[in-house]
Amino acid sequence: MKNSPSPKPPSQKSLPRKLLLVGAGHAHIGLLRQLIDAKNRLNSLNNLQITLVTEQPQTIYSGMLPGWMAGHYSLADISIDAKSLCKRAGVRFIQQKLAKVEADSSSLSTTKNNTFDYDLLSLNTGADTDIRWLNNDQEQADISKKVIPIRPIYPFVERWQQIIADAKGSDQYHLAIVGAGAAAVELVLAAQYRLQQINGINNNNNNYQAYLVCGDHLLPSFNERFRQKVIGQLERHNVKIIYSKAKGYSEGQLYTNTDALSMNAVIAATGVTGSAWTDYTDLQTVDDGFIAVNETQQSVSHSNVFAVGDVATRVDQDMAHSGVHAVFGGAVEADNLLAYLADKPLKRYKPKNRTLYLLSCGDKYAIGSWGKYSTQGRWVWTLKRHIDKRFVKSANR
Ligand SMILES: Cc1cc2nc3c(=O)[nH]c(=O)nc-3n(C[C@H](O)[C@H](O)[C@H](O)COP(=O)(O)OP(=O)(O)OC[C@H]3O[C@@H](n4cnc5c(N)ncnc54)[C@H](O)[C@@H]3O)c2cc1C
Repeated sequence: MKNSPSPKPPSQKSLPRKLLLVGAGHAHIGLLRQLIDAKNRLNSLNNLQITLVTEQPQTIYSGMLPGWMAGHYSLADISIDAKSLCKRAGVRFIQQKLAKVEADSSSLSTTKNNTFDYDLLSLNTGADTDIRWLNNDQEQADISKKVIPIRPIYPFVERWQQIIADAKGSDQYHLAIVGAGAAAVELVLAAQYRLQQINGINNNNNNYQAYLVCGDHLLPSFNERFRQKVIGQLERHNVKIIYSKAKGYSEGQLYTNTDALSMNAVIAATGVTGSAWTDYTDLQTVDDGFIAVNETQQSVSHSNVFAVGDVATRVDQDMAHSGVHAVFGGAVEADNLLAYLADKPLKRYKPKNRTLYLLSCGDKYAIGSWGKYSTQGRWVWTLKRHIDKRFVKSANR
């Protein structure tokens, strides 16, 4: 971590010519859409070269991932085609993985050892799953062979298909989801629903069973009424809740602080930590490798670098890493990139006090939360499906 003097803001004489976008997260999808919609109006950007460097041509929309796992959606239903958006927006698309950012020299490199320089950089690469609960470094290094992290999502999608194939080919299958947040709950309910489909829904044995290993507290950041509704749904689906801390997984045994559980597979949904590449940057970082940004989503150490979504942490106020902030903060950040290029004032991202949270429950049922209020039912799932489908459709349009 290193501080360096900020470059001067752009002047009309020397406007930036190379805009480099890394990661096809929410902000960059939104920016691509803006560029497509306003293509004929962005005359001032005519000499600008915009490039998107990202790992995959498709971005999976995490809000619909549990619905896909449960079998309600196809992969196409939950994918945003970043490559096609680039083509239509006149943006160069490069499928590579970021490895290092050298902000002092305004350049970055990828895992294929290609180097890119920029005048203006925007980082929207999301975060990695925090797997430091695994009890030794070797296990963390071997994670791809053992515990399956939910992030990054693309490899997870492949692993889930393998889990389902393995479960279908076995007489019994036991799967643990480690985590205590809303994502872990949605994943375990989706997993249990899908395993029960394999089992035959009327067969009341537990040969195919999902477990939620959640430590001492389930949903620590939600209120008690919401938590009780969630526990009711976990019970309705016969999910086994294990109130112990997971410590490690080897040779089919998930070790907790109280027990050893036989598991065919273990999925980690245990919060986020900075992406691996943040170990190799001179950008200022905070906490566990998140890019430190201010209220305009601008790096606090290098003003020609912006970062938003799970990759960044705001230094001026507490803000959770969540899709809501990635979407709304991303929209502000996208506007700020265009403002920066045109030498105009930047906007501040002011998060709302309350946001709607819709938690899917495996079958076509969901729980909604708005501040201290919560509700549940099939209609909540229908509402969630409508919002999610509209989101993906408008991103791909
Ligand atoms: C199952 C699940 C359900 C969720 N549901 C909700 C919800 O209902 N509401 C909510 O607010 N939040 C939810 N979240 C959290 C939400 O998914 C994230 O906060 C959000 O997706 C972060 O968006 P982002 O724009 O930062 O990046 P992402 O959406 O993670 O996108 C990152 C992009 O960067 C690319 N990338 C990654 N690393 C590199 C690299 N090294 N080089 C190049 N490209 C790279 C990826 O391929 C991807 O295109 C959920 C999470 C999960 C796992």
